Amino acid sequence: MFEIPPDHPRAESLKIREKLIEGFEKGLVAKAGLIAHGRGEAFDYLIGEETTKPAMEAAKAAAAAMLLAKHPVISVNGNVASLVPKEIVELSEVTRAKIEVNLFYRTREREEAIKNALEEAGAKEILGVGEAASATIPELSSWRRKVDPRGILIADVVLVPLEDGDRTEALRKMNKTVIAIDLNPLSRTAQWANITIVDNVIRAIPNITEQAKKLKNLSSDKLKEILKNFDNRKNLGKMIEIIKDRLAKLAKEGIYIPEASQVYKEMRKIE
Ligand code: ATP
Ligand code: MG
Repeated sequence: MFEIPPDHPRAESLKIREKLIEGFEKGLVAKAGLIAHGRGEAFDYLIGEETTKPAMEAAKAAAAAMLLAKHPVISVNGNVASLVPKEIVELSEVTRAKIEVNLFYRTREREEAIKNALEEAGAKEILGVGEAASATIPELSSWRRKVDPRGILIADVVLVPLEDGDRTEALRKMNKTVIAIDLNPLSRTAQWANITIVDNVIRAIPNITEQAKKLKNLSSDKLKEILKNFDNRKNLGKMIEIIKDRLAKLAKEGIYIPEASQVYKEMRKIE
């Protein structure tokens, strides 16, 4: 792995990139997955690279929905398997959710590579690999619609970290409760999901687990109450407002990086 200097100002973000590159080299991540990550990074920059209050509220609603579900399923792609394999396994254990490999760019090799990575992280059962993905989601074309009849097909709640808009829409039309994790509050996925966590999967998955541990012993009435009080439209609106306010503040302050700001002021004095 490429050595990242610990004092690099963007060390954390670079470490995440290295994990994805490693995942790409091991055959888990598709080329398009690398590009999708870049889009996510850009929104993370705007959000401030931390979990916001609305994102934590959405994670709490997600935990409640998963605990209430009869058949909760976590859909995993190459990016997710590279970035948070252990965290996915822990979440599945806490919420009794099944794990299903579900890919936009399906190849048998990639499915197997993802399955292996998850098993190495401690997963006992992985759905959706090879012939197991024998059922189809209506409305989607060819290989993009394959799902496992023991998993997503019969699921009532599906967690889709990093899903494509089309497929999120199709899952909604199959009457499933869709929980999405997407850094872009404007994406079709973010807009179609029942619960959208606008946060990086790196932070969002452990947040849902933490919330699920806290909520685990509540009655189903209490959990339903949490869901009833959650409004995804409003939550997305709050996220857009956070970005707007943050940008307005940064624009007013002139420049983002404090040291650069100092240099800039000195330069103005000389002029
Ligand atoms: P949509 O199809 O939903 O309209 P899109 O076509 O713009 O979205 P896709 O390439 O289909 O985007 O999906 C990638 C999505 O995943 C992007 O919206 C991006 O913001 C998000 N994303 C990428 N990496 C992460 C990450 N680490 N955490 C959270 N979200 C991420
Ligand atoms: Mg898309």
